[in-house]
Amino acid sequence: MWRYSELLPIRDPAAVTSLGEGMTPLLPCCRLTAVIARGGLSAAPIFFVKDEGGNPTGSFKARGLSAAVSKAVELGIKKIALPTAGNAGGAAAAYGARGKVAVYVAMPRDAPRAMKDEVVAYGGELELVDGLISDAGKLVAERSKNDGWFDVATLKEPYRGEGKKTLGFELWEQFDGELPDAILYPTGGGTGLVGMWKAFDELEAMGLVDKARPRMYAIQSSGCAPVVKAFDAGAERAEAWMDAATMAPGIRVPTPFADDLILETLRASGGGAVAVEEEELLASMREVAAAEGIDACPEGGAVVAAAKRLVADGSLVAGERVVLFNTGSGLKHPELRAGA
Ligand SMILES: *Cc1c(COP(=O)(O)O)cnc(C)c1O
Repeated sequence: MWRYSELLPIRDPAAVTSLGEGMTPLLPCCRLTAVIARGGLSAAPIFFVKDEGGNPTGSFKARGLSAAVSKAVELGIKKIALPTAGNAGGAAAAYGARGKVAVYVAMPRDAPRAMKDEVVAYGGELELVDGLISDAGKLVAERSKNDGWFDVATLKEPYRGEGKKTLGFELWEQFDGELPDAILYPTGGGTGLVGMWKAFDELEAMGLVDKARPRMYAIQSSGCAPVVKAFDAGAERAEAWMDAATMAPGIRVPTPFADDLILETLRASGGGAVAVEEEELLASMREVAAAEGIDACPEGGAVVAAAKRLVADGSLVAGERVVLFNTGSGLKHPELRAGA
């Protein structure tokens, strides 16, 4: 990721805290295309999976936390805190260990076991919350106010988004200086969506792309779909989603802090928002593994399930290049795998 350091807001190279994150593979997926298009291959778009599962700590949260911890080191911040649905906690703890920054993580008690264990393994302080990431956020805000922990909650500070921005640069590089036609992104707090959009503007400012942009699609579960609901209603802000429940923790975010930025990006891009059922998400997660050998996380499953709908309703058309984000590794979800 730090190949793009000239475009990242850390000035002191000695502050860069890296575990080898980024430059993940962009995999053309012919067999998955057949699955998504249900055999109607002549009318199918060309699908690529951007597979983020190989990042340190097994998810793309590594990008954002590498940038945020690096900036903390540069600024002399000694302790950071964050609420998480799961993956961001592990990434924060790992980069905190690497950069000698103390990390406090508040996480729902029912988060996947692997995500809780890794926070402790990397020396982070873990507090389990009987509730959701939004409840964890209240604890962190209190700690930050009373005990001086620096709050790095999603998009409340700029640096995690700056790290996620590198997804946009990589797509540009991996498509040989072009951008894809559409991007499907499993949306929780929306860091990557908002970050990539910024990256495309920066590429244009450098004269590397023109004004054309990919259509951006936010993918959620019908068990927690505040962005989809607001998009469909034509609203500028999302309402809190009650009783959020999905087996994809990364998109179990009932009140995204940057809902207005997410909605603005979707509309400016000419894209959209799709919610899929839990059974669809699980079936698609397993199909990706069997069809392509890609170890999809449930959030990646949601994206593939949404692609089926977008092909069926004509939103994605023949010949288009479409990027499907698999944002993490299936290894953290052994209980969801086929045959488990
Ligand atoms: C956090 C997370 C998401 C959602 O990312 P945002 O940038 O918060 O929208 C999706 N998938 C996985 C695996 C995640 O950990």
